[in-house]
Amino acid sequence: MTPERRLETDTDDGMLLIISGPSGVGKTTITRGVERAISDSVFSVSATTRDQTAADVEGVDYRFVSDEAFQAMIDADALLEWAEVFGKRYGTPRAWVEEQLARGRLVILEIDVEGAKQVKAKMPEAFGLFVLPPSEEALLERLRSRRRESEEQIQARFREAQREIRVARECGAYDAFVVNDDLDRAIESALAQVRRARESGRKRSAPRP
Ligand code: 5GP
Repeated sequence: MTPERRLETDTDDGMLLIISGPSGVGKTTITRGVERAISDSVFSVSATTRDQTAADVEGVDYRFVSDEAFQAMIDADALLEWAEVFGKRYGTPRAWVEEQLARGRLVILEIDVEGAKQVKAKMPEAFGLFVLPPSEEALLERLRSRRRESEEQIQARFREAQREIRVARECGAYDAFVVNDDLDRAIESALAQVRRARESGRKRSAPRP
């Protein structure tokens, strides 16, 4: 970024935070909790080809795009990462993320494990946080209580969740795992780890006396 474009609020403190976890684990609530508690954090709005639901706000939760528009973003190298989840494509806008990092913000990506692996390969200094359910039984119960899908779809999401947890533990993209047994405690634990990571990044990048 050129110096004249610097804002008064700009710092050299940018950090990329990846938050992942299986569906139904409560990761969106945890993400929003972290976003609220850290004043210079910003949430990266992904592009997706999935259908918008009544609960989704365009431009806030996602940018809903056609397959053609998504493909054009891939071709233009406009995505930092992208992955297919449950047959639909999801991706992170590269330019926006880079600009926010340059401004010193904590940039939050709520993305799946495949996307997290891509980001970590490109930006190893990113901090990866994976949200775990208290148990597999609790996760199945949570998926059922949302009443969003049929039992068949719930079982598919459950199997996918089990796979994701296994991959998350093995792939090396995650620096911390937070168990969501109690929401407030999970947010506090996530915040403590994120603040610690940011502090150590600050020390690393500080000029030597
Ligand atoms: P949902 O359709 O339930 O909102 O999201 C489905 C999955 O896609 C979630 O695991 C979510 O974290 C993931 N996801 C959302 N945005 C992105 C993205 O930009 N990239 C990747 N790789 N995954 C995403």
